[in-house]
Amino acid sequence: MNNNTNKPLIYKVTNECKTTKARVGVMTLVHHHVDTPVFMPVGTQGTLKGLLPQQLEQLDCQIMLSNTYHLGIRPGPEILKEAGGLHKFMNWNRALLTDSGGFQMVSLMKLAEVTEDGVKFRSPFDETSECMLTPEHSIEIQNAIGADIMMQLDDVIPTTSTGPRVEEAMHRTTRWLDRCLAADKRPHEQSIFPIVQGALDENLRRQSAEEHIKRDVNGFAVGGLSGGESKNDFWRMVHVSTDILPKNKPRYLMGVGFAVDLVVCVALGVDMFDCVFPTRTARFGCALVRTGQLSLRQQIYKNDLKPIDENCDCSTCKTYTRAYIHHIVTVETVACHLLTVHNIAFQLKLMKDIRTSIVNQCFPKFVKDYMDTLYSDKNYPKWIIDALNSVNINLLES
Ligand SMILES: [Zn+2]
Repeated sequence: MNNNTNKPLIYKVTNECKTTKARVGVMTLVHHHVDTPVFMPVGTQGTLKGLLPQQLEQLDCQIMLSNTYHLGIRPGPEILKEAGGLHKFMNWNRALLTDSGGFQMVSLMKLAEVTEDGVKFRSPFDETSECMLTPEHSIEIQNAIGADIMMQLDDVIPTTSTGPRVEEAMHRTTRWLDRCLAADKRPHEQSIFPIVQGALDENLRRQSAEEHIKRDVNGFAVGGLSGGESKNDFWRMVHVSTDILPKNKPRYLMGVGFAVDLVVCVALGVDMFDCVFPTRTARFGCALVRTGQLSLRQQIYKNDLKPIDENCDCSTCKTYTRAYIHHIVTVETVACHLLTVHNIAFQLKLMKDIRTSIVNQCFPKFVKDYMDTLYSDKNYPKWIIDALNSVNINLLES
């Protein structure tokens, strides 16, 4: 517990890379401290598919993400309140972050409609009745869940949108931020992160960040990326956003979790990430490794008695072979479990290695070695070369 102050989030940068915008820090939250840069696994229904909270703890995961949309509909805020919040309900004592529910609402509901009031949608159980998710309602559910970090409700538009709708969504997001902050009943226990929007327009991103900085908040998120835009647009928007956001507060890039994106975006100054990819790909029989991915359904693993990764010390790699996982993959749910353990361990180990390299002032070398392992033919994608160049790492010079 953090008793020194009544702030529910204290962030301290402990080490800065002298070449790039990367930094290492510690976020002290009410339930647990979090070492940054951090990857947060996503538990949709208040649990990770195929993993118990205790197993996440054994992997030394310090913070996980839960989806408000799912929890708000079922079991609903009343039972969560009665249970004493999601921490107690799911028996997870470490830090939690909840999204606002808006993104899932808009992406899952065909009939969602955004008005100044909030997001209007048809009930998923009863197609005829209409429900409305307002900024106030989103915070009410998130207050009941009780996560250490909550996200504001934002006006979600497709990343590649253009024209006046982008500007409207950016300004509305700021107005909704103020409504969220006003509705918050637990500001001493939970922090609300604003979300920088503006699609792929540099000026709007800048305006959005500048507006949000004026509010008394403990951290910031960059939203609306990783939604089908070009990688060139993606890294530039991240770069613009982290240039403006204050250095003394954590920056969270939403929905980004491919290993290579984590490495590049840490260099661009991002501290927090989340993504369903590592757990979702596990369900399709894919294991994450530093050279890319192993698709264990392939026949080449039939007689392969090596672990997924000899350098990984997760329980799956210590105990089981590729051949065994190949044998049960997509047939038995236990295969999904074994791969989920490995993939989460992979993401957490990658972030730990990144932090260690920043502390030891060898992050630029780490990045180069990482890219050489991933692209052994040195055929680096142009966006990676450009993004790293912008923070003084030249991949092409030996
Ligand atoms: Zn492993």
